[in-house]
Amino acid sequence: QTHFVSLSLQAKMSRPVQARRLEGTDKNIWVEFVKLAATYSKVNLGQGFPDFPPPDFLKESFVRALSGENHMLHQYTRAFGHPPLVKILAQFFGKLLGRDLDPMTNVMVTVGAYQALFCCFQALVDEGDEVIIIEPFFDCYEPMVKMAGGMPVFVPLRPKAPKDGKLMSSADWQLDPAELASKFSERTKAIVLNSPNNPLGKVFSREELELIADLCVKHDVLCLSDEVYEWLVYDGKEHIRIASLRGMWDRTVIIGSAGKTFSATGWKVGWTVGPNRLLQHLRTVHQNSVYHCATIAQEAVAQGFQRELKLYGKPDSYFVQLPKELQQKRDWLVQSLDAVGMKPIIPEGTYFLVADISKFKSDVPDVPDSDEPYDSRFAKWMVKNKGLAAIPLSAFYSGAHKNNYNHFIRFCFAKEEATLKAANDILQKWKQEKTSP
Ligand code: PMP
Repeated sequence: QTHFVSLSLQAKMSRPVQARRLEGTDKNIWVEFVKLAATYSKVNLGQGFPDFPPPDFLKESFVRALSGENHMLHQYTRAFGHPPLVKILAQFFGKLLGRDLDPMTNVMVTVGAYQALFCCFQALVDEGDEVIIIEPFFDCYEPMVKMAGGMPVFVPLRPKAPKDGKLMSSADWQLDPAELASKFSERTKAIVLNSPNNPLGKVFSREELELIADLCVKHDVLCLSDEVYEWLVYDGKEHIRIASLRGMWDRTVIIGSAGKTFSATGWKVGWTVGPNRLLQHLRTVHQNSVYHCATIAQEAVAQGFQRELKLYGKPDSYFVQLPKELQQKRDWLVQSLDAVGMKPIIPEGTYFLVADISKFKSDVPDVPDSDEPYDSRFAKWMVKNKGLAAIPLSAFYSGAHKNNYNHFIRFCFAKEEATLKAANDILQKWKQEKTSP
């Protein structure tokens, strides 16, 4: 017994066990809010994934790959991407960008866009390098930059007040050109661009992208362009790829996701597209971390892209149909929220929508001097008391800026009609309870 105790005492280390690079990155909004939604929500418009199935052609491709003759699809494939997938991605993006792409050097497949981002930061950001991040942003950029030893530098999208009586649009959130320019210096290594943007749904205009591109070229800065929502653009707006602007191909890594593209987030197939001078370093990180990605999922995604290349721009294309369906869903949710006074900011793209909760503040009173941003407490109260899950906008701001815009929450509208109706019912009932004495 004594012997056992002394052994276990020896085994316990008194110095910190975690690596220093993990400092300050332990909290994760998704861990907390996904659990809350699982426990309390009747209607989950929180995390970004569809509750409708992926298209039949994609599921059929997966089943064919799984149970077909080629049993080698159950084994490792090429580490940097299953050959049929990198080939079709090179063809597809070559067409979109108007340049010849080499499937072996200009494309790399990853475990979702998430791993693509991780490879970018690990491969391209050095100790002390600054990385510009536009707020609000997909939250993982900040810890990933820090884990690479880099310093995130934030620049906000600033909302312009809407014209009388009109709902705000994500286009009303804009960069101040002088403010953006002031963030670039000789220490700047990269800027992260996310258009269409999660959480606002902003689709950056050509002028805005040119502004960013000019600064990148002037200061010799890389652009990590997270375009996972590239097909989800509404009202005839156009998604412009910054890599197609002058001087940008050689300094841009495009990041994409089959999860978002084909409504199959659980497959975790993502990719990077870019010049070999950048991708060769991403491959180094990839080969020393994940190395292979699931073969069957890659095979099925390859077939999905082969179909989409044939149908490119045609009415039967999934990349044409999906945004049409989502635009309808967006409009439903906009109507629901507007009708109860939870003012929506109309998104130009993505399947997210940010809404102003100011009118509901009386139900969830502010706690003065609380460390927690108001919107976070509101979202927790809402899921616990109303069964409706959403994500506070403060989750998409860096630590010091979490209270800048703390009266907004983000909804995901990639949901079945019945789910959106159920959300509408909750909101209507809530509004009635508020107005009746
Ligand atoms: N980038 C953005 C902007 C996202 O919203 C997401 C998913 N929420 C990702 C990357 C990660 O995508 P994946 O699921 O393919 O890893």
